[in-house]
Amino acid sequence: MFEPFHEVVTNVSKTILEHEKKTDRPVIGVMPAYFPMELIWAAGGYPVQLWGNNLPLEKSDAYLQAYCCSIARSVLELEMRGIAKMVKGYAFTSLCDTLINLREIYRRLFSKPTLELSIPITKTVEARRTYLRSVVQNVTDGLEAITGQKITPDALKETSQLFGHVRALQRNLYQIRREKPGLIKNHDFYTVIKAGFFLPAAVYAQMLEKLLGNLDTLEAPNGKRPRLVLSGMVFDPLEIYQLMDEFGADVVDDDFANGWRTVSKKDFQVGNLSEGVTAYLFHPAPCCCIYNPDNDRHAYLLNKVKESGADGVLFWYMKFCEPDAFDRPQLMKRLKDENIATAFVDLELSVANFDAVKTRISAFCEILEG
Ligand code: SF4
Repeated sequence: MFEPFHEVVTNVSKTILEHEKKTDRPVIGVMPAYFPMELIWAAGGYPVQLWGNNLPLEKSDAYLQAYCCSIARSVLELEMRGIAKMVKGYAFTSLCDTLINLREIYRRLFSKPTLELSIPITKTVEARRTYLRSVVQNVTDGLEAITGQKITPDALKETSQLFGHVRALQRNLYQIRREKPGLIKNHDFYTVIKAGFFLPAAVYAQMLEKLLGNLDTLEAPNGKRPRLVLSGMVFDPLEIYQLMDEFGADVVDDDFANGWRTVSKKDFQVGNLSEGVTAYLFHPAPCCCIYNPDNDRHAYLLNKVKESGADGVLFWYMKFCEPDAFDRPQLMKRLKDENIATAFVDLELSVANFDAVKTRISAFCEILEG
């Protein structure tokens, strides 16, 4: 039942080339995070999300220091090695300093067009709106220039429904995982979510509908294993979930930027583009990279633990992501104050030996069982 998703994730280039041909749309590489895919599809593009890869870093080291995160470094490696030839342009957000600089590097090194959805850091909602009005116009102009196609209200409406439907299906999958821990293996779950980064939304929606239909009548296995909430920027490397499946731990929910923080987004509002983008960026899940004092991460995470019935929270730290690192100590303290067990692992995407991570996670699970 999960095989088609594994097929996509193990053959990313083949998948993208196949659908580029079928859809006859220019591939747009989407950098982390929260760039609304709806805008790209409505402009006639084929968005493909780039959340890093496990290529050994050889060429990108000349431009990004070793203390930049492996997400940015490995994405740059793709372009430098010529593996991303099918990508016709790049869509960035200003999520962090690394990504802001990465776009400048792309502009200097490569001839492919880039555009940036700059996320405002403002004290008031009104200031945020005003700023985004001008940014969104630049973004849509940039997209239309890459694809040669105008974003029409009809296309936007249709696209909003399609991508909203995909996220609703993903939320169903999250719900099944919460309600029936252990039914979906950790490795299968994140493979399903990851496959959506590379497939056209309509194709992915059909696969999800079939999967959910198959899962509908199945029950969770007997017995209780340690239940975890994971929190971090990206849920890779997937290999770790295979280890967790083997030694027996069930992820029941997450707070990943490329997991729940994105999946939880409601349908993109199409009436007023800048309002739609504002709602999309700032709601509903808070993020360490988005300044939004009205959306408290502490309460959100506590609630997530309570609702999912988790035994503890494992922070999934991608070295050396500053926004994530700055939030973690306070979050861990707050959870500890509420008697919720916490631990963290620090990771890189190119890691090949998972022994240390396995030891750390299994030790945490033993504590939870005790
Ligand atoms: S992981 Fe952190 S540092 Fe890296 S691109 Fe994402 S937000 Fe920026």
